[in-house]
Amino acid sequence: MYLCYVDESGTPDIPGNTSHYVLAGVAIPVQFWRDCDRVIDSIKAKYDLADQEIQTLQERRALVRDVAQALASWGFARLFAECVDKIHFDPTRAPKTIDEQAFEQIVSRFEQYLAAINQNATQKNFGLLIHDNNETVAKKHTLLMKRFHKGGTLWINLQNIIETPLFVNSELTAMVQLADLCGFALRRYLENQEEELFNLVFKRADRRGETVVGVRHFTRAVCACKICNAHRRAPSPG
Ligand SMILES: [Zn+2]
Repeated sequence: MYLCYVDESGTPDIPGNTSHYVLAGVAIPVQFWRDCDRVIDSIKAKYDLADQEIQTLQERRALVRDVAQALASWGFARLFAECVDKIHFDPTRAPKTIDEQAFEQIVSRFEQYLAAINQNATQKNFGLLIHDNNETVAKKHTLLMKRFHKGGTLWINLQNIIETPLFVNSELTAMVQLADLCGFALRRYLENQEEELFNLVFKRADRRGETVVGVRHFTRAVCACKICNAHRRAPSPG
């Protein structure tokens, strides 16, 4: 089983007070969950924050960098994310809201990742989505998952993801905070060109060969950012 922790950064409102809305998911095989949680707790303990959430990220730069560095070293972890440039998003032409579109993308990419893993697996690996327990998001994502399970997403039928997402309080598990950190790092890179955290978490973006398939920047046609460059790159032969 694979756990995918999902969290958002920025607001889906237009225009809102951020230029980007980012939905990020961090997937790990369930057998690594305890170790990952322990690593993050030990980093937080080092900064004397073991029982607190990683909240005010800017004030805790060193802590956040250490956590991002740990994630970057976890070869078994995969990052999925949809980064929507709201200036580019035209609500009058889009059939879905920004956060619906982003959630559909994350679910589709996690499903594709699981399908690829299961091709060579002797036993089927299921995926479970785990979200921060925010009432509005919980209701919305639960309804969307029901719809995806009935009719598939726009891209793929769901065969590997468990229908009902799980909601947890982020203060109880460091792993949801990790998804929060990834969303934050992606958004700060796109909005403020801050690269330090981005370069660390982007190492875990799901890739096929050289091409990043797990993270997308939804923006104008020509964009020179690292996400767009890595997304466009042709897969290496074989
Ligand atoms: Zn871009």
